[in-house]
Amino acid sequence: MDCGEGTQHQLQRSEIKSSQIRRIFITHMHGDHTFGLMGLIASCGLAGKGQPIDIYGPEGLKEYLLATAKYSHMNFGSRLKIHTVRPGLLYEDDEFRVSCQLLKHRIPAHGYRIVEKDRPGMFDIEKAKSLGIPPGPIYGKLKQGQVVTLEDGRRINGRDLCGKPETGRKVVYCTDTVFCDAAVELAKDADVLIHEATFAHQDAQMAFEKMHSTSTMAAQVALLAGVKQLIMTHFSPRYAPGNPIGLNDLKQEARAIFPNTKLAYDFYSYQVPRRREENKVKVGAGVRSKEQARDAGLLVIDDD
Ligand SMILES: [Zn+2]
Ligand SMILES: [Zn+2]
Repeated sequence: MDCGEGTQHQLQRSEIKSSQIRRIFITHMHGDHTFGLMGLIASCGLAGKGQPIDIYGPEGLKEYLLATAKYSHMNFGSRLKIHTVRPGLLYEDDEFRVSCQLLKHRIPAHGYRIVEKDRPGMFDIEKAKSLGIPPGPIYGKLKQGQVVTLEDGRRINGRDLCGKPETGRKVVYCTDTVFCDAAVELAKDADVLIHEATFAHQDAQMAFEKMHSTSTMAAQVALLAGVKQLIMTHFSPRYAPGNPIGLNDLKQEARAIFPNTKLAYDFYSYQVPRRREENKVKVGAGVRSKEQARDAGLLVIDDD
């Protein structure tokens, strides 16, 4: 999502390799979201063999990249595809669905929603065997929850042999934007909402003028959309250490409205919990520390 200046250098310092990048989604054309693209594309070594890369973004992105490539005498080759997005569904495969929505910024800016598809529950092989169902291709159908007729005439509903389906996770990315209903709609029931918070609450006037969000706007989107976790990013340098208001203040402001708020920073990573693991995550009941919980094989989520 987005590619600000210096992305390829930070990537080299991270655990992610550029060869792992398959799709890039750009929210809007402002430089702090696009200036890293050419460097990143160049470092992907498109001349060699490797995976295709699809870039999705607003109108103007394709022209911008083609012009930059032309005047820097760079050949994208056939592995790079640039797609111009419109609000609605823009990508779908067996695992994921990605859609976007226009937000409210000085220039057209899109928010993205990634939805992992639900997976059928675990197939109970022992139960299938005990019902005398012969192993074979029929198991595949039952695993998918289909109704199957056996040779002896019995009809078996695959769903009776599968555990609870696993609900897919949803991640929503909203930047840059001032508070808007479209962001709330896009973020509905998301497991994680990544939302910009350029300004502190007391600088709301500036947020409206520049069409950015305050910490409290981001928190209200999270609250109204009923998300599970808010991660704020895109902070103004005016809150850097040494200034009267700092990022901790932005965090406290947001938490007063939406307690499950975290601040993003370079190399920060967050594991989105699977829905079936939800009940396991609480440290409490019999475990006194996170270390103990980890030892007990529980999934632990840090508060900060
Ligand atoms: Zn912008
Ligand atoms: Zn920006």
